[in-house]
Amino acid sequence: MAKNLDWDNLGFAYREIDYRVVARYTEGAWSDLQIITDPSVHMSECAAVLQYSQTVFEGLKAYRTEDGRLVTFRPDMNAQRLMDSADRLVMPKVPEEMFVKAVDMLVKANADWVPPYGTGGTLYIRPFIFGNGPTISIHPAPEFEFRVIGMPVGPYFKNGMKPIVIKVSDRDRAAAHGTGDIKAGLNYAMSLYPGEQAVAEGFAENMYLDSATRTYVEETGGANFLFVTKDGTIVTPKSDSILPSITRRSLMYVAENILGMKVEHRPVPFEEVSEFAEAGVCGTAAVICPIGKINDHGKEICIPSGMDAAGPVIQKLYDTLTGIQMGTIEGPEGWVHEVK
Ligand SMILES: *Cc1c(COP(=O)(O)O)cnc(C)c1O
Repeated sequence: MAKNLDWDNLGFAYREIDYRVVARYTEGAWSDLQIITDPSVHMSECAAVLQYSQTVFEGLKAYRTEDGRLVTFRPDMNAQRLMDSADRLVMPKVPEEMFVKAVDMLVKANADWVPPYGTGGTLYIRPFIFGNGPTISIHPAPEFEFRVIGMPVGPYFKNGMKPIVIKVSDRDRAAAHGTGDIKAGLNYAMSLYPGEQAVAEGFAENMYLDSATRTYVEETGGANFLFVTKDGTIVTPKSDSILPSITRRSLMYVAENILGMKVEHRPVPFEEVSEFAEAGVCGTAAVICPIGKINDHGKEICIPSGMDAAGPVIQKLYDTLTGIQMGTIEGPEGWVHEVK
């Protein structure tokens, strides 16, 4: 029985649901996965996550298909990225099989919390690993916890895609050769201040440039850029300090192999941005959100697709990928994972 929630007005917020899945890493090995009800974490006041931000995370969604199945989208990719993230912060890796099993256990246990088909809502899933043991000298934690939590969230767009206005930030999200390419909580701590500033000034997001030369486009605080040239080529910025978005890589694959479009993953000079026909940001939450304007220190770059709706290429990409996710368009083998 589905819970009695106002499914159409969920928004994006934490909500405590019945179950979470945890495993603990002590003496060199992960415990078995456990389903628990306690929504609080118990840890040392000197835990490595509190003192030195030793934590990495993932984000993915579970949803219902029209025929009532519970599915997730490419969870193996999230598993791989969490391993890369953990490795970079000297944390134990959660093997792919264990990761996918934990996500499946969470979704199955909380099936009543997955929004019904047709509401556009999903169960947002947040797997994370954190250093949990007293750590005062600068070393990795002695113990770790892997926890997978979930919460029902509403659709990102309620009445069609709405273009956003963003600004070019004078601050940096990630250093060259730093941790920008892993999903670490510390990267988000870095972008809180400029993010709040942008919102206070009336912008939806920041465009971060490369920290070394400030001449190339990187990404926003939590989504990758995707541009469309006037002759219809998809261009996405390439840099070692951009987080490799699974949505962006899926869209590129769809564009090239299903829609027969030309795609380029390469460094994108900021100077080139005013020449594009369409622009957007992509990530799990919205899939794609179109950009209408980019404010560069008071100078507006107006994207030709405008402020009323997404451009035709971005709309097509969005429709195709969401169609694959919902099962109405046949996608590549293995992209839609059924929770059993
Ligand atoms: C998670 C994240 C993204 C989007 O990645 P998806 O896998 O598409 O959800 C983009 N940028 C940053 C910095 C992120 O943390």
